[in-house]
Amino acid sequence: MKAIAVNRTGEDGQAHLDGSDNDTIHLRTDLPDPSLEEFPDGRGVLVKILQVGTCGTDREINRGEYGAAPPNEDFLVLGHECFGEVLEVGPKVKDFKAGDLVTATVRRPGTGALDRMFFHDMTHDDIYFERGINLLHGFFCERIAEHESFLIKMPQHLRQIGVLSEPMSVVQKGIRLAYSMQQARFPDFHPRRALVTGAGAIGQLAALALRLRRVEVVVSARTPGPHRKAELLDQIGARYVATEGENMAEVLADEDPFDLIFESSGSSRVALAEAPFLLGKNGVCIWSSISGGDGKCEVRADEINQRAVLGNQLFFGTVNAHMIDFERGVRDFEHGMELFTGWLPKLLTNKIDLSNATDRDAPREIMKSDRDGVKAFVNLA
Ligand code: BGC
Repeated sequence: MKAIAVNRTGEDGQAHLDGSDNDTIHLRTDLPDPSLEEFPDGRGVLVKILQVGTCGTDREINRGEYGAAPPNEDFLVLGHECFGEVLEVGPKVKDFKAGDLVTATVRRPGTGALDRMFFHDMTHDDIYFERGINLLHGFFCERIAEHESFLIKMPQHLRQIGVLSEPMSVVQKGIRLAYSMQQARFPDFHPRRALVTGAGAIGQLAALALRLRRVEVVVSARTPGPHRKAELLDQIGARYVATEGENMAEVLADEDPFDLIFESSGSSRVALAEAPFLLGKNGVCIWSSISGGDGKCEVRADEINQRAVLGNQLFFGTVNAHMIDFERGVRDFEHGMELFTGWLPKLLTNKIDLSNATDRDAPREIMKSDRDGVKAFVNLA
């Protein structure tokens, strides 16, 4: 069957994919068909992939900055934002049937204690396994076979936006942890004002999730409006502020402090050197940007340290998502579709149809970034 992959030419098992040629993404047709026989416990599910979302992580992997191919393979099938339809189920599967719409979690358990308890999104292990990212093939293919314990059912009426499930799960995990940790510190915690940094898919979904929790939301990103991203935010009652590459803490200096910051700008400078100056007393800052690279910047360390200590502030990093975050995402999708009719589908700005592609280089299109676009997704079948 067809698949979209990147090459691995590094020497050891953990090596980055290809340091020599920065654009190795390609279409291949030699991927073996998946089979329910891979699951001897009878709980396998065969899924036809309908759509796969793309994000900056795919581009980093293609550039050889991040990720690893499975051991003994010279390529990695990309794709971690999956949406599909069940074709067939194993004899012991109870929760799924043919025709169900599903999405899948990205990370798979390693060997650690938390992994054995199904909290592999919080693994203690140094090595983690993520489909389409690290050591496991992903979802950019026509069909997958997956154990039912890694699948989440999507209601049929969310078919149009099912491909947003994985980025939404990342947002949900950050917000779930922020609320639960803050509630442990102050039983009456309810953020009044939140700042979201970055106006891409994660930023838009974070703004939505916070608006659904009745929080006043400001979103900051570089490019001055008007543009599509600012308009989308306006439609859900979030306010867009452009930094135009200036220091965000200075641009927003006149704002009241924020109770919660969802940092998804992709910039370590924004996360570490700027966002802390906008966080209020008892505030919580969620760091979700994965900044590959070796960027450096100057940090007003004493001031940040003093504000954090005297203000009882909480900063934490979060990656990936638990099953429950996908489920919470489904609930927010339903709520969001009801409250802001027609808004969520508008996030799906760039459709890349590779269903008839035969050219090995056709998937290169996936790596083009569109500054005005929010979420690009691909269909192969
Ligand atoms: C994915 C996460 C993953 C992370 C680190 C992100 O792009 O959305 O699921 O854990 O990359 O590999």
